[in-house]
Order: sequence, then C-alpha cells, then structure tokens
Amino acid sequence: MHKKLFIPGPVEVRPEVLAKMAEPMIGHRSKDASALQRRISDNMRKIFFTESEILISTTSGSGLMEGAIRCCTAKKAAVFSVGAFGKRWYEMAVSNNVQADLYEVEMGKAVDPEEVDKALATGEYDLVAVTHNETSTGIMNPIEEIGEIVKKYPEVVFIVDMVSSAAGSKVEVDKCGIDICITSTQKCIGLPPGMSICTFSEKARKRAEQVPNRGYYLDLLQLYKYIQKKDYQYPSTPSLSHMFALDYQLDYILNEEGLENRFARHKEMAKIVRDWAEKNFELYSDKNHLSNTVTNVKNTKNIDVSALNKALGERGFQISNGYGSLKDKTFRIAHMADCKVEDLKELLKNIDEILGL
Ligand SMILES: *Cc1c(COP(=O)(O)O)cnc(C)c1O
Repeated sequence: MHKKLFIPGPVEVRPEVLAKMAEPMIGHRSKDASALQRRISDNMRKIFFTESEILISTTSGSGLMEGAIRCCTAKKAAVFSVGAFGKRWYEMAVSNNVQADLYEVEMGKAVDPEEVDKALATGEYDLVAVTHNETSTGIMNPIEEIGEIVKKYPEVVFIVDMVSSAAGSKVEVDKCGIDICITSTQKCIGLPPGMSICTFSEKARKRAEQVPNRGYYLDLLQLYKYIQKKDYQYPSTPSLSHMFALDYQLDYILNEEGLENRFARHKEMAKIVRDWAEKNFELYSDKNHLSNTVTNVKNTKNIDVSALNKALGERGFQISNGYGSLKDKTFRIAHMADCKVEDLKELLKNIDEILGL
C-alpha cells in the first residue's frame, strides 16, 4: 500500500506531475530545451520574487549549497546554524577548504539578528549563510530582519537555504538582499527529488570571479556563464524529466493555485497542526519563530514514535521522527507542497485514533 507522506521531503507528488516525469526525452541541445529552461527560470523568479538569474543543478539541494559556499567565499564565511542543515553548510565549507566559523544557537531557537550584526561587525567575513526554514527543529528564522542587518555590510554575500520553504512560505529574495537563495524539488515545490534551483545575484557573480578554485560541476559562475552563452542550456545533461515536471508544476502553482493562495494554505495547515500539537502534546520550538511547512512536536506523552508510524503505515500514512538526537524526543509532521487541509485532518484523526487521544 502506498503511504501518504507527511515527512519533510520527499513529499506526496500529484499524479499529473509524476506523469510528466515519464514523458519522452528531447535533445538537451535543442531549441525546445532552451525554451523549457528559460520558462522555468522566468517562473522561478516569480517564486523567489527576484530579478536575479536562476541556476538549476541536477543535484539535490545540498549540491547548490556546497557550490554557493565554495564559489562565493573569498575571505571567510560566517555560518549561522539553528540545527542539522545549518551545520551541514559549515561542514561543506570545511571539507572544501573554505575558511568558516560556525555560530550555533540552542536547538529549537532562532537566529538572533543582533548576533549576525556582531559577527559581521568584526569585518572578518565576506559571506554569511543562514537557513530560512530549519527542517530538523521546525524553526523559521526571521530572514527579513537578518537581511536588514546584512545590508549594512555591502562586502558580505548573503546565501540562504530555502530548501524546505520556497514555494511554501513567502520570502522576497531581492527585498531581503539575498544573493543566493537555494531550494530543491522534493519539498514545497512538490516534485520528486533530484534537482536544485537557486537565485544568483550580480554581487554573487562578482564575488565568484574573485575565487580561484570553485570546483567544476558545482561552479556556479561557470553555470551562469554557460546559460548566458547557450540560451539557457546547461553544460552537462540535466534531468529533463524533472524539467518537464517542474515546468508543469510551476504553471500550476502560479496560474492555477496562485502563489499567495499557496502561502496561505501552508499557513492554514501549520495552524491546524500547531493547535493539535498544543492540545495533545507541546510544541518543541520557539513559538515566535515556528515553521509554516513542518511542525516539530515535543513527545510529552512519551509515546513510541516508531510504533505510531508503524500503525500509521498500516493505514497508509507516514510521519517523521525527531531529527538526530531528537529521534524519540520529538516527532515531525510536514505540511508542505500540495498537501490539502483535508489530507492533514485525516492524518491527525488517524493519529488520534491510534493513540486514543
Ligand atoms: C532537505 C533539506 C536540505 C537538503 O536538501 P537535499 O535536497 O536533500 O540535498 C537542506 N536544507 C534544508 C533546510 C532541508 O530541509
């Protein structure tokens, strides 16, 4: 039996979108490929509220994260981490020989913009990396406020992990001064995993020009130059199947559902899960900075999360346990992509029945 996924990626994918993945191939050096990729870029600019160029990579989100921190740090990166994915960025820097410092906050808390100010005021850094939506803890960082701080430091490139929130929660990339904003297909966009997408500002481009060793496959500057020269075709063969599905899904998001409606639906779903969690358990994370796309529930009733998931599985649902050290201390319910309010209510009803709530 198929289990409906309420995990923070991969997500349920609409059958129409899955069908697009099965369409026959086209040549990746054809005019049709150029048109397809140009259309995707134009529509992704709307999702991100940006005028910047869009880069696409046939990697999951981690690929462009690694490319961004490596290609755009000339001096030293300040990585602000509120959980597992923030830390991943730091590990990427270290393993690429990129100078970086890690600023961590306690699990379940958000980044304090003042701490960003303090770090950048040292003048040590020329890049700052922040996670918008920390999937491991269910925290959504105050990215607009952080953006206001970063604007005071024109030499600093601002890179943001929006992997689990883009197309589910509104962030206006240009207004926030974000230079590289990254997402991947298997979260709020609602596609299978396998591709990542980012914005790439002029400032990011100029910085990358000054960085000598940017790698090869994930060299964002090379990608940028190539698509300018070759009418949006990519240097290596992209996952055309994802592009067919993404093109179709972006049209649905922008022209059928509507972006603002999509954001509103995510907020509505978040509220339903939070209310349910507060009634039956507790919320793990700081209530002033809760995620709109995934809720981390504190396991105050000491339930056996694996047993719950097993019972849910028999009914055709799957949720997520806590991340890493939070494995049994919390459990996570994702409410992202094309999940409907009714789907979510059905899930919660089944949890209630299983646990006798
Ligand atoms: C899922 C996720 C990632 C990793 O993305 P992949 O596409 O799995 O490489 C990074 N950051 C956040 C916040 C995520 O939720």
